[in-house]
Amino acid sequence: MTAKDRKALVVLSGGQDSTTCLYWAIEKFGLENVSAITFDYGQRHRIELECAQDIAERIGVPQVCLPIDTFAALGGDALTDTDIDITSQVDEVTSLPNTFVPGRNIVFLTFAAAWAWPRKIDVLVTGVAETDYSGYPDCRENTLASLQESLRLGMESNVEIQAPLMHLSKKETVELARDLGAIEAMAWTHTCYNGVRPPCGSCAACELRARGFAEAGIEDPLLAQS
Ligand code: ZN
Repeated sequence: MTAKDRKALVVLSGGQDSTTCLYWAIEKFGLENVSAITFDYGQRHRIELECAQDIAERIGVPQVCLPIDTFAALGGDALTDTDIDITSQVDEVTSLPNTFVPGRNIVFLTFAAAWAWPRKIDVLVTGVAETDYSGYPDCRENTLASLQESLRLGMESNVEIQAPLMHLSKKETVELARDLGAIEAMAWTHTCYNGVRPPCGSCAACELRARGFAEAGIEDPLLAQS
């Protein structure tokens, strides 16, 4: 079976990384074999959801947005709890920033696998990267390998999790987007932790994005339009 005979489901957040993954999946599996899944997990910035829908529509990929309102009910993280300010400081015990939503990627990929199962989709694509500055443990390769094994056992399937950005730096991710012809699409993405367009330019997410584009020597089209 060649890659073009397989179907892939991309976890699309509306951000730079997952959008790059969408282009990667289209090149690898063919446009007709790619779909996208987005999760409304109560994130404080609804603009992410709008961006994800817009990107899928522009590219011509079917997209579904599934509600998961449990994370907000759990509380304790800055991405779903508006009482908590997003800071770049890390927790003294866990060394994780307060933007860490415990279990988020595990839940996303588990629901993605459940969505994929009856639709005979073989591959789940996620934009997580071990090199991410935040060090989220659910973005690591060993977490994904273990989760893939659990999903295979628990769903009696051969589902595969692919994370094409896993070992790429932000610079390399921008270069990959360039090679895939995805730079223009970066104008449709959302990264800023403050949820504003044009982006604030000063939060940790904006700074990381800017550094990646600068190191790759490529102008960020999101900034060019604003
Ligand atoms: Zn920002």
